[in-house]
Parts: sequence; structure tokens; C-alpha cells
Amino acid sequence: MCRLNSHPFRSVIISRESETILSSPKDGTRPRRCLEVGPDVPLDVLVYDPRFLDHVVSPNHVERPDRLRAIVERLKQERLYAGVEAAAPATRAEVERVHRSTYVDYVRDLGGGFLDPETAVHPETFEIASLAVGAVLGAARAAVRDGRPAVALVRPPGHHAGPDYGGGFCYLNNVAIAAAECAARGHRVAILDYDAHHGNGTRDIFAASPSVLYVSTHEYGIYPGTGPGEDVGEGDGRGFTVNVPLSAGCGDTSFLTADEAIIEPIVEEFRPDVVLMSLGVDAHYRDPLTSLTLSSPGYVELVSRAANAAARLCGNRIAIALEGGYHLDALAEVFAGVVGRLQGRKVDLALTEVFDDKVRGRAAIEATKRAHGAYWNLR
Ligand SMILES: [Zn+2]
Repeated sequence: MCRLNSHPFRSVIISRESETILSSPKDGTRPRRCLEVGPDVPLDVLVYDPRFLDHVVSPNHVERPDRLRAIVERLKQERLYAGVEAAAPATRAEVERVHRSTYVDYVRDLGGGFLDPETAVHPETFEIASLAVGAVLGAARAAVRDGRPAVALVRPPGHHAGPDYGGGFCYLNNVAIAAAECAARGHRVAILDYDAHHGNGTRDIFAASPSVLYVSTHEYGIYPGTGPGEDVGEGDGRGFTVNVPLSAGCGDTSFLTADEAIIEPIVEEFRPDVVLMSLGVDAHYRDPLTSLTLSSPGYVELVSRAANAAARLCGNRIAIALEGGYHLDALAEVFAGVVGRLQGRKVDLALTEVFDDKVRGRAAIEATKRAHGAYWNLR
């Protein structure tokens, strides 16, 4: 169903930051404080800041500024780059909802060095990482406030950053900080992590929390090595950590079967107030870092299902944040497909080959179902 039909009328308060960007109306009048959503007003929110391009880990590093350039360029080509909002850097108090004070000081004051051999720190790293957190916070707040999907185009990524550590190209955990803020306001949060790597940082932050559901599909055995199906969380949080540890070669049918057998039923039973998504495009078959084989339509379908679930369960409150993904064409077209889907527009996708048509991940899916049989109503 077209989202315009499901939401025929909605008022959107334009934030101070967005006024700067939306301050050139075609008729030359002053920007309005309120807009009525009509056909010319995008139905999702994009949060982006060109300062993310200033983050350079090291020369020739795969997590490079061109990743965001490729996404933004493709969104512009598709006329989907609209309703873009800027964000303010996260405050110390916001960051410390999930990270220890000593770790925050360490990253801020390091000046130069490494969190791990592939995660270098420079004098500007902390500031740009804080801005990425602010962008994801902005997207989550917009989704919660307005009941419309939001997409944060950010780097550096965040899901490998835990309470007192970083690594895997991550410094501060963007999505976890947004989830912690939502949880502090009494919301039940479902985090769907569709990056090819297990989000060990997010897992560790919320392992004992029953108000934040963490679901991750990932290639098991590669970096960071965590995320077996039997890891269901700790203490009061048991059952609220859901890992689907896929093997090399798993793609569309494995992901979609995992979604039907595990993710959708658990999210449905959990009844989130908001859905946050860590969206990495490194599970794509063109990605150079992993051996998963999702196609571009497979990605768009997964996100589409999550958006449908958010519409059904929590009034369209879904915010999506970029994590990994290192093949520029795959990254650009998946995000174009996703933003197009959220705006009710179909985008032509070129990377459509399906390599997994026999549910290669069935063993992993069954293992996760066994581990969670005691906690959720899974058939
Ligand atoms: Zn990744």
C-alpha cells in the first residue's frame, strides 16, 4: 500500500538544522515552521553531513569517504536526495549512555594511534564520530517524533564499539547510543543488524537488557568471531539477543527464510515501540570482505519487510543507519533501493543475481530456533 494512502495527513515540524537546508523554497518565501505532507514532501528523513567525508582511517582503507559519496551521488541521480537534515554532534552525556567515561576520554584524547590495526585514531576522529552518533540520534528522534522512516548516512560505522572498546573501523556505537536514548525514554527498541559482521559492541552493550532486542544476521567465523546461535544474552536479557550465524554462500533465500522463521515472529512478539536498523551492505555478493551473497533486491526486500513490520507494530517508527559495505556500486544501489522503497518509488537494480536458492543457512536457522524455543513462540 502506498504510504501516502496510509498517512493522508501529517504535520512535520522542521528542526533548526533542517531549516538551513530547506531554506530555499521555490517561491522565494521564508521557510515555514510547519509543513503539511503532500506529494512534494518526502515521506522519509535523510540525515547526512559532508563532514563525514573528512574521516580517513588510512590511505587505501576500505572504509573510505567514497562509500558515502557513491550513495549520495546515486540518490541524487534517482531524485531521492530530498528532505536532508543535518545533525548536531552527540553530547558527552548521550555518548556515555553506552560507553564508559574512561573509554570516551581515551578516544577523545588519543590524538593519534590505533584501537586495532585497522582502526586508526586521528585528532579529528572523535569529533566526526560524535557527529555520526548525532546523525543517528537525529534519525531515531525524527522517526519516533513523526512516525516516519529515517535514514542516517554516516561514517564511521559503530556496531563493533562496545562499552569500553572500539575496533573493526568503529569508535562510538551510533545505533546503540540511539537505542539507549529510546530505552531511557521508556521505549522498547528492536535493533535489526543486517551487516555481514556480528555487531559484538551492540551485543555487549545490551546483552543484559530486556528492553532492547538485538537481532543479528552475520557470517559466522569471520571478524569479530562472536555471535553463535546459542548466545541468547545474559541475566534479565536472556532471550533478547538473537544471533543467526550464517555460513559462507548464504544469500537471499537464507536471509528471507531467517526473517520468516525467526526475525518477524520474535519482533512481532516483542512489540517494539521503535525499530532501529544497522544496515551494512557487506553481505552483498559483490562485497570484497565477506562471503555472503545477498543480492540488491534481497536487501531491499529485507528492509521492506522491516518497514512493513514497523508500520504494523509501531506506527512507522523505524530508523536505518549505515554500517559497513565496501563495494561502491552495491552500496549505492542498495541504499537507493531502500530510500526509494521508503518513498514509495521503485529503483532499477542491476546486481540481481541469486546465488543461494536452496536455503544454505537452514542449519544456522534451526540452531537459532532451538536456542530461542524457550523464550519465543517459534514454530
Ligand atoms: Zn560489516
